[in-house]
Amino acid sequence: MKKAIVIISACCLFAFNAAAQQFRVEGPKDERTMDMRPEMSEFYSPAVPVVTPGDIQTASAPSDAIVLFDGKDLSAWVRSDGKEGMWVVNGDGTMTATRGMGSIKTKENFRDFQLHIEWSAPEEVKGTGQGRGNSGVFLQDMYEVQVLDCYENETYVNGSTASIYKQSAPLANVCRRPGEWNVYDIIYTAPTFKEDGTYRTNPYVTVIFNGVVVQNHTMIVGTTEYIGYPIVKPHGDGPISLQDHGNPVRFRNIWLRKL
Ligand code: MG
Repeated sequence: MKKAIVIISACCLFAFNAAAQQFRVEGPKDERTMDMRPEMSEFYSPAVPVVTPGDIQTASAPSDAIVLFDGKDLSAWVRSDGKEGMWVVNGDGTMTATRGMGSIKTKENFRDFQLHIEWSAPEEVKGTGQGRGNSGVFLQDMYEVQVLDCYENETYVNGSTASIYKQSAPLANVCRRPGEWNVYDIIYTAPTFKEDGTYRTNPYVTVIFNGVVVQNHTMIVGTTEYIGYPIVKPHGDGPISLQDHGNPVRFRNIWLRKL
């Protein structure tokens, strides 16, 4: 029975991804998306295996990196909505996603890169599922690598920590306990586009989560939508953006190397 569920889920995911690749979707009002509900693109099996990470030392920025946050200020960032006010810098080398401020993004745009970013979910556990320690790292402001507290916290696997949101479940759940620090090292190759706006080459991403590969050269098939199919939108270089999902997730030591 369990095997059957796994096979059915895998087939659904394959069909979903195949559909997303096959069609260019013009926008969220695409007729195929109109009647969809969020849960129609959420998968619960196969489960993501839990892996306890080994000890890793955090890596300070190498000499050729662009330092995006060194703990002192957010001068490399702006609010995505362009309004006044900013996320809180805490004075201990960290900053906090600040409810109501919306997402923030880097002032500079990037193409292919290696991104190092550290994050910590609130030590005081509040909420469940997607409501617990939720934030996100958006590559070129388009494609979300999920940030979520999945330490003994169940949710749909393709929305769990280090998923490519609603597209690709991670290969392992390497979450440390709430309040402890997690490390993402993200290697990203930007897409190229045909004249008709579809991908000539898709975006690809590798994610190393606390020293464990959890996305292995994963092909991204479009934007990471909450409801419905991924959307293919032509775009050029773009910023790194961090999501305000209403949870006070902290970040530190963010740097990027152009590739
Ligand atoms: Mg998120």
